[in-house]
Amino acid sequence: MHALSPTGHRLPKNYRLVNDVVHEHGHGRHLAMADIHALAKRSQPTIGFTTVYRALNRLSRLGLIAEVRVPGADMTYYETPADPHAHFHCESCGRIDDLDYHLPSGDVERIAGSYGIDVREALVTISGRCPACREAAPAT
Ligand SMILES: [Zn+2]
Ligand SMILES: [Zn+2]
Repeated sequence: MHALSPTGHRLPKNYRLVNDVVHEHGHGRHLAMADIHALAKRSQPTIGFTTVYRALNRLSRLGLIAEVRVPGADMTYYETPADPHAHFHCESCGRIDDLDYHLPSGDVERIAGSYGIDVREALVTISGRCPACREAAPAT
């Protein structure tokens, strides 16, 4: 019933299912917990919301999946751990897209050095209006 995850931790079957769902559907996309729950139910109709919630927390801590942290987003999204990238958050429709950008590591080190801080992560979020929302309601 148990298998080793890539990091060597034993994971319950339902947790592995949640991991598989995020890895199958989370490439370049951001899945809300409700999406993940709906997808997991296709293979395991009895899986509960709480199990999915616990699995997501555990998998994030293990680094198998990544939580998308975007200021102003109305809920937490999950994605597969990818190279560092920035996020765009549309304030009109709420969509979150990946942006192919990350802070130059030299800059982060320089900031860390000059302020004497220990950096855990540096996130970049750009917010505004997406092309669809701009088209629907052009700025005057
Ligand atoms: Zn939008
Ligand atoms: Zn992303």
